[in-house]
Amino acid sequence: MEIVCLDLEGVLIPEIWIGVAEKTGIDALRDTTRDIPDYDELMQQRLRIMDENGLGLPIIQEVIDSLDPLEGAPEFMAWLRAHFQVVILSDTFYEFGESFMRKLDWPTLFCHRLETNAEGKIVNYHLRIKDHKREAVKSLHDLNFTVFAAGDSYNDTSMLNEADQGILFKAPGHVIEEFPQFPSVNSYAELRAELEKASPRF
Ligand SMILES: [Mg+2]
Repeated sequence: MEIVCLDLEGVLIPEIWIGVAEKTGIDALRDTTRDIPDYDELMQQRLRIMDENGLGLPIIQEVIDSLDPLEGAPEFMAWLRAHFQVVILSDTFYEFGESFMRKLDWPTLFCHRLETNAEGKIVNYHLRIKDHKREAVKSLHDLNFTVFAAGDSYNDTSMLNEADQGILFKAPGHVIEEFPQFPSVNSYAELRAELEKASPRF
């Protein structure tokens, strides 16, 4: 039995924080783990900036609601779910991902959670477990699944390593160079071809 684990941002949807930065005009929200490698420091900065700008969860959700999945993503997901079991493994938060899940017809999403107060202010965030993408693939192996995985960035490489076949999707050049063991594709058609190549059922 085969299961496909997909990253979300950069694979099926745009980068959420970049989208929020563009829609709100707050450039400081563009920082990513490339600018601030410590994830906790980065998240604390984001929460502080949102607080300073009076942005609670409802406003952020409204901004996110105006963003769309990447072109062709819903069609690719429809094909994928007809041929494989599918789990999306993302480092986003359920509170941010919901609107996109609706637009992708509610696939299974494993991610993290935000904590808000009664006024809708985001007061904290909770990672479900550390390195959850890798842990999920390990657990799926324990359940006797063959796992194929695709992602676009550094936070996916432990998942890709753990999978029976890892695939880079629209990854930046330096990630492709650093991880030459993974095939690298740039379109849903190519990703589909790699999955069909990996599976003996095709
Ligand atoms: Mg990504």
